[in-house]
Amino acid sequence: MPSPTAIVTVRGAKRLAAGHPWVFRSDLATAPDAVAGPVRIADPRGHALGWAWWSPVSEIVLRRVERDPDIAINRAWWRARLAHAIERRSPLAALTNACRLVHGEGDGLPALVVDRYDCWLVVQVLSAAVEAQRAVVVDVLLELLAPAGILARNDAPVRAREGLPKAVELLAGAVPEEIQVNEHGVVYLAAPWTGQKTGAFLDQRENRVMLRAYARGRALDVFSYHGSFALHLARGAESVTAVDASAHALERARVNAARNGIATLSCVEADAFDFLRDAAARGERYDVIALDPPALAKNRGSIAGALRGYKELNLRAMRLLAPGGVLFTASCSYHVTKPMFLDVVREAAADSQRPMILRALTGQPLDHPEVVTIPETGYLKGVLLENGD
Ligand code: SAH
Repeated sequence: MPSPTAIVTVRGAKRLAAGHPWVFRSDLATAPDAVAGPVRIADPRGHALGWAWWSPVSEIVLRRVERDPDIAINRAWWRARLAHAIERRSPLAALTNACRLVHGEGDGLPALVVDRYDCWLVVQVLSAAVEAQRAVVVDVLLELLAPAGILARNDAPVRAREGLPKAVELLAGAVPEEIQVNEHGVVYLAAPWTGQKTGAFLDQRENRVMLRAYARGRALDVFSYHGSFALHLARGAESVTAVDASAHALERARVNAARNGIATLSCVEADAFDFLRDAAARGERYDVIALDPPALAKNRGSIAGALRGYKELNLRAMRLLAPGGVLFTASCSYHVTKPMFLDVVREAAADSQRPMILRALTGQPLDHPEVVTIPETGYLKGVLLENGD
């Protein structure tokens, strides 16, 4: 029996040809006679376009995973694709025991995230088609990596759009409440069951190391979470202040500091906007600042408000910089593009009345591949600035 085929419109086929794997419902000419899972795709003239994940209830009805129509989507396919993604991360093995192994579309594996924390895995299954193949995914991950446990952090809100329930569940073995991560010589505890994302923010690893090279004098980590930048800054600074609105995150920051033998960290539970304003009013100055807010633009409609927020935060941080001081500022809002963020930084620099020197522009690390034809794979932007006064 021939496998079910989805026919996409000419416009849908053009999008695929331009290197983007998604087909929206409006570009579905004929739905495949199939439940969620892998289906063949073809254009209106019957030309085969490969294979895609079929999501019957989602607005993103198809996500292409394979261009070759003659390849079968089976366990061997999954094994090859996952092994390739894992191999791509091999340069990180000597530097850390935690990294993202699969970054969805960035690794040709749409709607799947796999993060490694030491000998445990945390996965996020984000489409109905991947959910349907979950047993194979787990089986191949067990074969390739022999993890001590696999946890599904399937509590991401996007699952609702696929008609999937939210759940945090153990898929194999056992996974502890806390896992010690070693990141370029700094250790911290990730919280796979309850922490943000899959337990930690792995995407800022290299930026933390970059900023550590500038650490001296008084350092400030704003939106610190569990002390991520602060722990690195403490290596070179005389004192470090970590600011976050979450008492729980700061509690872990204190534990993390102790694990690293750091006695120079102070934690401040505060709204970052208020903290920065009050610090400026007190005339405080810092030699190094990390500014890593949560995504201020959650959707397209909130971009304008988010840009105002980023500008205010950056302006306030720049005003706190000592002469020669260094600021690392980031945005993880997908909806705020690279040019938008650079504009915000420029406007804040103008208002700060300081000659802010551009030292580096950073994007995503090796384990979070951003494919240039798939904007959705990219979200993180970083700017390193120096107060030229
Ligand atoms: N810098 C961290 C990640 C920060 S995530 C790292 O590299 O791991 C964003 C953090 O901002 C979260 O810890 C959240 O608790 C905190 N947060 C959100 N809104 C805040 C606010 N208005 N003021 C202070 N902290 C806030």
